[in-house]
Amino acid sequence: MGVQGSGKGTQSALLANDLDLVQISVGDTLRWHIQHHTKLGAQVRRIVDAGELVGDELVESVVRQRLDIHDWNFGFIIDGFPRNRRQAEFFLESYDIDGVIHLDLPDEEVRRRVLARRLCSRCGLDYNLIAHRPEVEDRCDVCGGELVRRADDTEQALANRLRDYHRKTNPVLDLFRRKEFVFTVDARPDRTSVQQFIRKQLDLPPYQPDQL
Ligand SMILES: [Zn+2]
Repeated sequence: MGVQGSGKGTQSALLANDLDLVQISVGDTLRWHIQHHTKLGAQVRRIVDAGELVGDELVESVVRQRLDIHDWNFGFIIDGFPRNRRQAEFFLESYDIDGVIHLDLPDEEVRRRVLARRLCSRCGLDYNLIAHRPEVEDRCDVCGGELVRRADDTEQALANRLRDYHRKTNPVLDLFRRKEFVFTVDARPDRTSVQQFIRKQLDLPPYQPDQL
């Protein structure tokens, strides 16, 4: 669990690759439905096109469908779910949870990271003015298209998302904390350091970047 920009997807991928876990990302699953023109995908598309956030119930049905496939041998790692207390309760009832990794990132740092994101208006490639700067300012390295901010990456929209995130997530974290599942990791350092902290906390062998 972690706020937008905390590196959930990246850290999950590193763990999944190395530990033979199936990685389930809510964002990727939603994108899959849109790309494959499923019924759920059409619903999601309508919401996104209207500039609204995909609601918790729709996310829940997408996740349930995804988990019902049950395609893992050893287990899975999921990011972007559960989003609220009710979903957390469903999750606790339905699955054996080994741990909840909480990537802790102060709002100020989220703001810095998210507001530095850019997107090529022509080919869709992602840029980040902190970590992945284009060679020529405001131009895509690949196609020369203009780099723009995502429509929902404004100060105001981000402030709303952060407020919404904390309001919903704090009760979820409290619930998991009571079950002693939560491992909190400082998400500010670089991604390799964060991965090492996660592994230390979970008593896993250290991450060896060269072998991947
Ligand atoms: Zn481009």
